[in-house]
Amino acid sequence: MSELRDLYQEVILDHGRRPRNFRAIEDADLKAEGHNPLCGDKLTLYIKLDGDRVADLSFEGSGCAISTASASMLTGILVGKTETEAREILAAFVEMATAPVDSKSDEGRLGKLAVFAGVREFPMRVKCATLSWHTLESALDRSKEAARTE
Ligand code: ZN
Repeated sequence: MSELRDLYQEVILDHGRRPRNFRAIEDADLKAEGHNPLCGDKLTLYIKLDGDRVADLSFEGSGCAISTASASMLTGILVGKTETEAREILAAFVEMATAPVDSKSDEGRLGKLAVFAGVREFPMRVKCATLSWHTLESALDRSKEAARTE
């Protein structure tokens, strides 16, 4: 179990250090901002749509390793998905990150994102891990308000 945990931490540290899709999309169809005042994480998410499918997804911002890694992995996993599929993954992610510590998560659907199940043991970190997902939700809702974890 602790080996598995080390592996999880490695994935998060890798994405935290070298975030994927860390750039703006100039002609984005959807854009949203998110802020986690508790930790100071801030990010902007950009989505380019092709019909109702996510053609491109990127983010910019500054935050801790967990919020950055979460945003980085979010962008990787959602390209090519429909808005409906993106919302399903979003719901599964938030459910996993906020479930009781000893509960089983839906790792099949979440794939690599299951590495974030570990944040459940650290309530402060749950907000870092879910910030990019709440921001995604505001983008998909076409909301003008910034997503906030508080
Ligand atoms: Zn954070």
